[in-house]
Amino acid sequence: VQGVGFRPFVHRLAVQCRLAGRVANTTDGVVIELEGDENDVARFRRRLTADAPPPALVAAVNVESAPIAGRTKFAIDASDAEGGVGIRVPPDLALCAACRRELFEPGNRRHRYPFTNCTACGPRFSIIERMPYDRSRTTMTTFTQCQECELEYTSPSDRRFHAEPNACPACGPAVALWDRNGDRIAGRADAIPAAADLLRRGFIVAVKGLGGFQLLTRADDEAAVERLRRLKQRPSKPLAVMAPDLAAAERLAELGPNERRLLTSAENPIVLARRITGRLPDAVALSLNDIGVFLPTTPLHELLLAELRGSVVATSGNRGDEPIVTDEHDAVTDLAGIADVFLVHDRPIRRRVDDSVVSVIDGQVAIIRLGRGYSPLPLPALEEFDGPTILSLGGHQKAALAFWNGRQAVLGPHVGDLDSQPTRAAFDRATDDFASLYRCAPEVIGCDLHPDYFTTRWAEQSGRRVISVQHHHAHVAAAQVEHSLLKREVLGIAWDGTGFGTDGTLWGGEFLRVKGARIRRMASLLPLPLPGGEAAIRHPGRIAFALLHVIGRPLDSPLLERLGVAQRQASILSAMLQRGVQIAWSSGVGRLFDAIAALVLPLAEATFEGEAAMRLEAIADPNVGEAYDIPLRTFGALAAGESAVPRGDWRLMIAAILADLERDMSPAVIAARFHNALVGWAVKCAELHPNLPVVFAGGCFQNRLLTERLATALRAAGRECLTPGLIPTGDGGLAAGQLAVAMARLDAERWGGKGAQ
Ligand SMILES: [Zn+2]
Ligand SMILES: [Zn+2]
Ligand SMILES: [Zn+2]
Repeated sequence: VQGVGFRPFVHRLAVQCRLAGRVANTTDGVVIELEGDENDVARFRRRLTADAPPPALVAAVNVESAPIAGRTKFAIDASDAEGGVGIRVPPDLALCAACRRELFEPGNRRHRYPFTNCTACGPRFSIIERMPYDRSRTTMTTFTQCQECELEYTSPSDRRFHAEPNACPACGPAVALWDRNGDRIAGRADAIPAAADLLRRGFIVAVKGLGGFQLLTRADDEAAVERLRRLKQRPSKPLAVMAPDLAAAERLAELGPNERRLLTSAENPIVLARRITGRLPDAVALSLNDIGVFLPTTPLHELLLAELRGSVVATSGNRGDEPIVTDEHDAVTDLAGIADVFLVHDRPIRRRVDDSVVSVIDGQVAIIRLGRGYSPLPLPALEEFDGPTILSLGGHQKAALAFWNGRQAVLGPHVGDLDSQPTRAAFDRATDDFASLYRCAPEVIGCDLHPDYFTTRWAEQSGRRVISVQHHHAHVAAAQVEHSLLKREVLGIAWDGTGFGTDGTLWGGEFLRVKGARIRRMASLLPLPLPGGEAAIRHPGRIAFALLHVIGRPLDSPLLERLGVAQRQASILSAMLQRGVQIAWSSGVGRLFDAIAALVLPLAEATFEGEAAMRLEAIADPNVGEAYDIPLRTFGALAAGESAVPRGDWRLMIAAILADLERDMSPAVIAARFHNALVGWAVKCAELHPNLPVVFAGGCFQNRLLTERLATALRAAGRECLTPGLIPTGDGGLAAGQLAVAMARLDAERWGGKGAQ
């Protein structure tokens, strides 16, 4: 309940109920001591939960008697700074309605002040140095409040009472506009209008946001968007659009009630929604149906977009896959050659947090990327555990950490792809940060089974006890945490690109029965050959080539051209496939998407992860009900040490797709039949394991069409079925699952259970 004006609320309530006592933030949560008439105490107790301010979540109230201290007043005590942290670290919150009103109110002392905030809004997680949350332990400590601010901060009836980052133009942070060399070209009152003017003229402005820099350019200016793509070397990955208000967002995308609620929520995520064609240049979303939209995050963004009177494309302020820049001096060097100017300020960002990305799937919020507003995400389902402290490291791409400090379990924000050295350094810092923020060093490290992941090597070198967890087991366990299903056995459908299997092969089209630490692989996809190993991911054309080779289909030159495979390369690939050299085998459904996209779209090269699946989903005709057939067949063991499990056999489907292409069937119909084929296969597999709840896990379930079709089909067959929610279903949620499995194994060891794998 921290950082949302809860202590001030308690103070007001106590005064209204004529009670003396005190309220304090402690490591156990909020502690309230009350003295007074019994009826007044009872009234207080009722209203404490009933009238709590909207962002506060009262998880539990424990009442105990204590000796009378003889107090005559009610006071807010300074925060108690001892011991391990049991209270939640509050997330950053977007500008609230009351502060927005003041921002645009001439004569208000905060009129057009870009750092206005109150107990219902403003920075939290991104500025906290240490817990408990208090101004003296944030990056606001260097700003001394003026008399007026101090009065608000100490007046129980004021909505800025204990608003920790409270500030005004007289005492708080200030904005400035810098040129490419970091020289100041405009300050305070002029900086935002000058930046808006440059945006209007098509320039790229780097803005210091809440959790890091963003690169903005005008969304309706095709040349500006193309220039941003070129300079950021981001040729085709979709870009998010920040609209000045909800009405503007509604002109860009089809928004339902869920999407509208998300856009205006305090979490302020980027919301994926179907774009309305013709409103923005194609360079923004390229060939995808969905567009990511969001509303201004901070008063600074609010003022900038109001001045511009238009939408901007907003992408993270980083180079390639490196972490987002948080310091304005670093920005001048790190974003050189991309940004034309820098809109900066002097409130330090203590902790990097990317913008969150969410999508409404199967009627609920599914977080695609966990960041600002949602992180750190509490994992209450794991908090009954009473064993050692655990840090789990997640996967390799989209790495994120999860932590159990003995009191609370949380999932941290997206860190990034651990291929680059700067991201690895950021990952190192994030592990230290977790330990210091939650005041506890981990005793056990949870990680993936993949021997080559940076996180696995990190775990091995940590000198602590390591518990490695199979990739898809972790995905399914994360879904169990999400839906509080840890005590039940579930059938997990775990589909993604690639994860290391217990038999040393690459998995990713899995049906797993999971209960606690125990996993049983019940079915999988017939493995696909990947010529050249995992590098084939960037060349879907080569995967399609390999599948055609498997079904014995001769590759004539039109077909080779379609797959983007040159004649010379074709002979090399054929030789590799015939001899079985440099071939990795993967049962990843994501790889099947790659191959089908290469055949149908076509898509010879993929420039970002998930491109094939996103584009196939985008073209699929939702009115098509027919499906290709993926029969379930049992073969012998396909790899040494592997147990023979029934396999979804895609070979007939590939032949059928080729036939459909030859008779010029529309790609929209073929793509839909392919989605439906996966649904049919999953329903058949689920029938073999009746009575178990079915959970969806893995990156493939970011695909709304696939997820909703499969959920509908399973429910029609009377199955209980749970789809992705707040824990990312992709690799960003792996750490939460690793934490759950590590706890289950430690429990099994302790209680002598047979669960350990
Ligand atoms: Zn506010
Ligand atoms: Zn002030
Ligand atoms: Zn995965």
